[in-house]
Amino acid sequence: MPTTALYRDDFYLSTCEAMVTAVHEGGAVELDQTCFYATSGGQPGDTGMFERANGSKIAVALTRHGETKDIILHQVAEGEALPSVGEKLVLHIDWPRRYKLMRMHAACHLLSVVCPYPITGAAVGEDESRVDFDMTETIDKDQVTAELMRLVSENHPIYVQWITDEELIANPGIVKSKNVRPPVGMGRVSLVCIGENSSVDSQPCGGTHVSETQEVGAIHIAKIEKKGRENRRFRIRFGTPDASA
Ligand SMILES: [Zn+2]
Repeated sequence: MPTTALYRDDFYLSTCEAMVTAVHEGGAVELDQTCFYATSGGQPGDTGMFERANGSKIAVALTRHGETKDIILHQVAEGEALPSVGEKLVLHIDWPRRYKLMRMHAACHLLSVVCPYPITGAAVGEDESRVDFDMTETIDKDQVTAELMRLVSENHPIYVQWITDEELIANPGIVKSKNVRPPVGMGRVSLVCIGENSSVDSQPCGGTHVSETQEVGAIHIAKIEKKGRENRRFRIRFGTPDASA
């Protein structure tokens, strides 16, 4: 049964009520609605817990999509009790972890502004994120860090604009990912915009991000690795370069 993904319209929703609509063998739970982000687009799904009416808690180890994008499966941690179909729960995501992922995800967008090359892969992590670019140039990581921190301190707004599939197909240039099918097929696509009137960037993305660049906080490029002749892997970490040395 399709789940209403409340996180799509509110990235800061850390808790909500929901009703169990299905419980699968192995402990995957479907709900009528959820604030748990499901793994996609390089961002890992949320962890957290369900609170039952009697106050007991059920740990959730991972959230992912089912066979289709409108199905969201909440994987209950091993050894935990399973809720019943029809049961009402209060959902709590692990907010400190998710907030780090939102900061990191926004940082990855900023990196794609500083390094305007086609993206061949990306993985957002709570401690470290990586972005792979199709590029042959050699870039100084400290210079990239300085430019990232300039965008952070300028405190640009980050917001979502919905466009239609047709609008995206008519403007293929806004997709920075190489060899990745544009996220069409749902009728509408969320465009993540940075800066007033997208002055800094806009990019189709279904992930969750902080609402202004200052929230990203201190980040730096820890490493730039050569992955083949035309591929460079950038590793982003929190904190200042000195702090992690
Ligand atoms: Zn994004």
